[in-house]
Amino acid sequence: MTENKDTMMIKHYYLCTSCGTCREKCTILRNDLLESFSPRSRVTIAGDLFLNKLGITQRVKDVIFSCTLCGLCHNSCPSGVDVMETVKATRRYILEKGAGPESLKALINSLMDEKNIFMLDNSDRMDWAADIEEDVKDKIKKQAETAIYVGCQESFKGSLYNIPEALVLIFNRLNYDYTLLGEDEWCCGAPFFLLGLKDEKSKQLMVHNVEAMKSLGVKKIITTCPGCYKAWNEEYRKMDKELPFEIKHSTEILADFIKDNTLKITKPFKAKVVFQDPCELGRHSGIYEAPRIILKNIPELELIELEREKADAYCCGGGGLCKATYPDTAAEIAGSVVDKYIDAGAEVIVTSCPACFDNLVGAIEGKDVKLIDIHDLVFSLLN
Ligand code: SF4
Ligand code: SF4
Repeated sequence: MTENKDTMMIKHYYLCTSCGTCREKCTILRNDLLESFSPRSRVTIAGDLFLNKLGITQRVKDVIFSCTLCGLCHNSCPSGVDVMETVKATRRYILEKGAGPESLKALINSLMDEKNIFMLDNSDRMDWAADIEEDVKDKIKKQAETAIYVGCQESFKGSLYNIPEALVLIFNRLNYDYTLLGEDEWCCGAPFFLLGLKDEKSKQLMVHNVEAMKSLGVKKIITTCPGCYKAWNEEYRKMDKELPFEIKHSTEILADFIKDNTLKITKPFKAKVVFQDPCELGRHSGIYEAPRIILKNIPELELIELEREKADAYCCGGGGLCKATYPDTAAEIAGSVVDKYIDAGAEVIVTSCPACFDNLVGAIEGKDVKLIDIHDLVFSLLN
């Protein structure tokens, strides 16, 4: 055994009874149908690597890095085996051996060099607001109690600009004050956490973001991205026990506005709607009701609840950095999830996660269903 092997690689190896309960719902196993991609196999492979019974082969890497970290296995294991933490510890081991997938090496370099996931100049972080410059120009780096943390995907990916755009325009309409970090916003570090890399690299990003928020007098941080939400609310709190912020997902804020009558949606949206529970918002963070409160308060919207929903909801297939390394697998899973929603009668799929939106958008092509972000939907009904 070498020093850089995390004992988390072996801890659950002995706990697993190989009962196979976790196999039924595993997002990747359901797609690839190979036992080596089952949750129990991931735990066995991690333990065998730890014990030097196995070397790092391409199949080992595929098994460890394809996991979407959806958490469906965690919810079903009768022995309390934590597959996700085992996978993350094993990812770190493989990466530190220099044997990680090339796409992830590039991602890590981008985070360190550019402070975002896209290898883009971080001074362009406000590009998402190019069409609403006048609406946000007084918000950037202003002192305020509430901040919107935009996140890399929505800051840089043109197809997702509409998400933060809609949120700030809703806030402006309600005269709800907020600040934006602009180019001072750095990646939250979520990719590092998904790779088990809780070290100086992730700490550097966290310290920068925390200090930037403190310097503006921020007390409450709102994210639209569940990955950013989890990084701030869970990972940052583990690293800084005194983290002085309330962390909210944007759907929680909008649901609160509806409950206290600050936000009233009177325009109807007549459609059968399925809500895609994002893994990191739902299963991982327990936020199920806020998006449903929003949708149930839209006149004429019919919310379809599925046989599998909330803690049991389907993963879109893009999480856990699966899409970064195995885009075809992520796309196949997204396709099968969209088909399930259509079979359930959905005319519209509503998301509250940029990563889910990004993964599902390709899967609706040519199908009789629409995909809408929840913030975008609400804002469209205020006009
Ligand atoms: S359900 Fe738990 S104990 Fe059973 S095979 Fe899966 S990880 Fe092992
Ligand atoms: S986290 Fe999801 S994809 Fe990974 S092993 Fe568990 S059920 Fe499968």
